Parts: sequence; structure tokens; C-alpha cells
Amino acid sequence: MDPELFRNILLSWHASHERPMPWKGVRDPYRVWLSEIILQQTRVEQGRPYYERFVERFPDVFELARASEDEVFKLWEGLGYYRRARHMLETARRVAFEMGGRFPASYQELLQLKGVGPYSAAAISSFAFNLPHAVVDGNVIRVLARLLGREDPPSTALGKKAFRQLAQDLLDPERPGAHNQAIMDFGASVCTPKAPACSTCPFSAYCIAQKSGRIHKLPVKRAQPDRRVRHFHYLVLQFQDEVFIRQRTDEDIWQKLYEFPLLELPFADASLEQLVQADAWQSWGWHTVPELVSVTPPFRQTLSHQYIHARFWAFRLEQLPSAPPDGCFLTKCENLHTFAWPRILRWYLQDNSLYLKLT
Ligand code: SF4
Repeated sequence: MDPELFRNILLSWHASHERPMPWKGVRDPYRVWLSEIILQQTRVEQGRPYYERFVERFPDVFELARASEDEVFKLWEGLGYYRRARHMLETARRVAFEMGGRFPASYQELLQLKGVGPYSAAAISSFAFNLPHAVVDGNVIRVLARLLGREDPPSTALGKKAFRQLAQDLLDPERPGAHNQAIMDFGASVCTPKAPACSTCPFSAYCIAQKSGRIHKLPVKRAQPDRRVRHFHYLVLQFQDEVFIRQRTDEDIWQKLYEFPLLELPFADASLEQLVQADAWQSWGWHTVPELVSVTPPFRQTLSHQYIHARFWAFRLEQLPSAPPDGCFLTKCENLHTFAWPRILRWYLQDNSLYLKLT
């Protein structure tokens, strides 16, 4: 398709269909960067309140750079992919303390920042600095694959490269920021994955996928990854008005978030006897098994490469163990809500009277 025609159709569609968002039209590189980091792997509607909270609490990069990791994680809670939050803080500190608070104004330099990949670098450089770099995400790939009838598999390096080149060739060099915003909005609201609005689409006369009946075959799908299933048995050990928790420090999922003492077993339907026989439990030095108050059915969470099945075993302790569970400490139940938890633990806490009566 002729690039000039594509740009004209896209931008005139956008002029009458733009969805207002608090970060749109913003030129401040800090806010553009913040919105891009928050919106990675996150739906716009879900990311919006997080963006607003972060901007309100940290109005500039210096404020964010001075924040503690715990505070940032707490504000981030519920967004998942906590590595993003760690990288965000690392970059804020680098920009604030090593670059005098100025974000670099070139695509290549932006790419050197932790957590900024080709997509974010293109978005920041075009929105904040009006530089001609095309964004390429799932929305853009879907639009281009269908409109141009491309069968390049976007999950491969070659396929990605092909879509990057196509997007770059079509980009409006005069208005790269507006163009990028328009194509992302178009993919999110018109050329959607399951029910594209072809009958009202301004490109329908040119769309190869529509003409050839391949809308639902494009873009070419990737095979689903094999996911590992893990069975977590969380021990909610309550002593008077306190409960044991710990911070996850291992090289594993949910690093730096908080959890209850964990026994990971190869099966979901463990009995109390099996729990008590686990090495970790044995090392805590209890002479008698504490009173079991409740046990939940499995809560399930799907991560990109893992399925997590978690059961929660709540015990009331009459005495403390002689050796507390590894890395665990006691905290008041009323303070549980101040820690940052993985999503599956928040589900448990929200459902549970232990938490509800105290918040
Ligand atoms: S005609 Fe349908 S499939 Fe083609 S670009 Fe428009 S919405 Fe997408």
C-alpha cells in the first residue's frame, strides 16, 4: 500500500476517534517513559490508574529515584512482571543521579536504559522528541499483517525484523508521534484480535486479509509455550495477632515480593502428614503440630511460563517454633496490607477474614 495513502487514512481516522488518556500529548520524557513502562504487557484501562498514582506520588524523576523499593513495589502491586518495577527504579536513579535528571534524546541512548526495549525507545523518542522511529507491538503487527496480507511469523527474529521494516517504511516522518499513537489506537479499537470492525474500517477497500478471507489467520500464531506446573503450599502461621511472612529473594518468580512460609511439593493434594514430613517443616523444631484452622482449595495463576497452584494452610500457634521458617519474621496482621504481595496471595488475603477484619 502506498505509504502516503496509509498515513492520510490513518491520521484522518484518528482525528475523529482518538481516545483521551492522561499520557497522550504529553511531551515530558519522564511521563512518557513512565507511561510506556507501566503499559508494557498491560491493558490501557488497567494501567491508567497506576500511571495516575505514580505521577501524583512521584511528579518527577528525582522523586521516583529517591523512593524505596518497597514503596515502589507497593504502588506497583497488581501489575505483575515485577522485574519491570525494579528496572524502572534502576533507570530513574540512573537518569536522576548520573544524567542530571535528563532522559537521553536519542533512540540508541534510550535503548541503553534498563527496561527500555526497541518498542519503548521508539515510543519515547517519537512522543517526547518527535524522532522518526516506528513503534511495533502486537497491535501494530496485527494491523500490518492483515492489511498487507503478510504471513511472516512475528514470533521469529526474521518475522519481527520484517514488521519493523514495514512499520518504519509506512511511518509519517513529519508526525511520527501522532502516527505511532494512531496506529496503536487503531489496532486496539478497530483491528482487534477477535472481532475486527471491518465493516466500518477505513482500510477495508485495501485490506488483503479481508479480501482473501484470512482475517483470523493473520498474524500467524505462535505455538503456545510449554508451561511448568508448580504446587505451592503456603503456611499461614498465626501467633496471637501476628503472622510469619518473608520476602522472596531467590532467583525465581516474584523476586522481592512478600509471602507466607512456603513448602513447594510436587503435588496439589497434600495431606497434613505430608506437609509435616517436609524437611523445611521438620527443621522448625515443633514438638507438636499446631492447630490447623483452615485449608483452601488451590488458587490458580497463569504466568508466562508457569502455572501456579497455591493452597493456603492456616494454623493457630500456641507457641513459637524454636527455629523460625527460613528468612521469615513476625508481623502484625493489621500491617499485612502494607506489603507488596504476588497476585495469588492477594486473592487469598482479600478472601480471608485474617486480612479483612484487620483492614
Ligand atoms: S478491514 Fe478488518 S482486518 Fe482489515 S485492517 Fe480493517 S479491521 Fe483490520
